[in-house]
Amino acid sequence: MGTGRGAGRVIRQAARLARPCGTCGGAGNSWFAQIGENGALRWELDEWCDDCQVQGCDRGRGPSPVELRAEILAQHGAYRLRDEAARGAGVLKAFRDVLGLSLPEAAEALRAVRGAGYEGTYVELALVAGLADLEAPVSRRDP
Ligand SMILES: [Zn+2]
Repeated sequence: MGTGRGAGRVIRQAARLARPCGTCGGAGNSWFAQIGENGALRWELDEWCDDCQVQGCDRGRGPSPVELRAEILAQHGAYRLRDEAARGAGVLKAFRDVLGLSLPEAAEALRAVRGAGYEGTYVELALVAGLADLEAPVSRRDP
């Protein structure tokens, strides 16, 4: 896509979670967001309750907690990164830096990108694509 390194560009996807307030059992409100900023992945979890006024937040760097990432995938759909021209250390480094993959895992991911495609969330794949100068990720929900 030729977006360069995308410094300063913020990519974000958020999902509302259906889970009750842990304090009073009321309806509660929970939002989980996966964020890509300055070539790095991070996440935010915000919870608040209108019934008992409890508030909470949690922040993390790197890959998202599995069960929260699953909500992003469920609500926004999986994306696919595919670029037959992908090759080289830059692609491996992008997978390792963004998703924390081991070198063998990154090599496997690169093979997938050049073949049937590598699947993940939009934010994860847009980050990798931006760092490695690959084709933009495509929604699996698109025809
Ligand atoms: Zn509550």
